[in-house]
Amino acid sequence: MFDLLGTVDRLLKADSDMKLIDYKEQIVKLRKGIVELEEELAAEKEKSLRLTRDVKNKNSSESLADILIYKDGVYMPDEDAGGYPAGTAFCPRCKSSEGKIMPLTIQSDLFQALSKYKCPECNEHFT
Ligand SMILES: [Zn+2]
Repeated sequence: MFDLLGTVDRLLKADSDMKLIDYKEQIVKLRKGIVELEEELAAEKEKSLRLTRDVKNKNSSESLADILIYKDGVYMPDEDAGGYPAGTAFCPRCKSSEGKIMPLTIQSDLFQALSKYKCPECNEHFT
């Protein structure tokens, strides 16, 4: 990595004999170093955002998993937990095979006679 501070120090200490072309060359190097730093910073910010998001997702699916009960062939949030709309259900297949907490979609009236829920992930139907 380019020595930004060292270059700045050398420029500050340079006497008036230093040629303009040398100054310019050093400034071009400084500019390049700053661009590299900015890119590095942007990449680190992106990484940090991703990690924060992963941790949040992990926490929310873990706490949801804690309150799920197996009922009528699907997983549902325990009624005592509250806060979940009626009909909220999760796929037992995805949960057992991959540990995923996958919300099921409620079938339209036309298909309700065949199955009540469908998993958008594994496409399994549940009555
Ligand atoms: Zn599924």
